[in-house]
Amino acid sequence: MDRVRSQFSRISLLVGLLAISGCYEPEPKPLIIGEMPPLVLPPAEAPPAQHRLVGRSVQGRPIMIQILGDGDDTVLVMATIHGNEPAGTPLVNSLTGYLRNNRSLLEGRRIVLMPVANPDGFAAGTRENIRRIDLNRNFEAANRVNDETNGFRPLSEPESRALQSVIKEYSPSRIVSIHQPLTCIDYDGPGRTLAARMAQYCDLPLKKLGAKPGSLGSYTGESLGIATITVELPAEASKQSEQALWDKYGRALLAAILFPQHPL
Ligand SMILES: [Zn+2]
Repeated sequence: MDRVRSQFSRISLLVGLLAISGCYEPEPKPLIIGEMPPLVLPPAEAPPAQHRLVGRSVQGRPIMIQILGDGDDTVLVMATIHGNEPAGTPLVNSLTGYLRNNRSLLEGRRIVLMPVANPDGFAAGTRENIRRIDLNRNFEAANRVNDETNGFRPLSEPESRALQSVIKEYSPSRIVSIHQPLTCIDYDGPGRTLAARMAQYCDLPLKKLGAKPGSLGSYTGESLGIATITVELPAEASKQSEQALWDKYGRALLAAILFPQHPL
């Protein structure tokens, strides 16, 4: 028994020495989507995030953000500006949990997370807010069109004003807004490289849909020059569990957070 034990410890010592000398490093495997290990969600006792109320909806629902990290490189990740496209909300919640438990990813970064940009639409299951204004057409972009759906003036709605105030205050260098159901990764402004990077880490293809009048992408991407990504999940994403969504799209979101570094 002692002999076995001493042989075992000799082998461990040898492996250790080889690892220290760099001879035992395994070959890095090429990244293959679908073969990646699942992203592990954090335990419940993760340190608290900083919550902030940034506005209220027409019906008085709170519009909340969470801020993680205090670095210079700021990323805004948001979901459900269209209330009937809710699958991004659990994804943003998963991302928040993951970052809280992997705080080394926050070094040099500040991540602003808005899980529900249109709380009244989210509650009612409608694309627009409760006044039937499409918040994603309500921004002051060069291509803006005033009408009864887009609003008769830019920022006519408290929800779009809240979002604009977050963008002005935090000056993100990248914005990711999660939608459904067009099943692609779209970009505005200087977002092409980032969009292509995110597409490497999920099964959504990169596609340029074109700037919509008065949209968030038209405003932040085209007018302000911020890399702005629209993640369009498929319709069936609404029926998937939070864990399934995270396993499928979590790495693409981490790719946006860590850009230009790769996740893993
Ligand atoms: Zn949408």
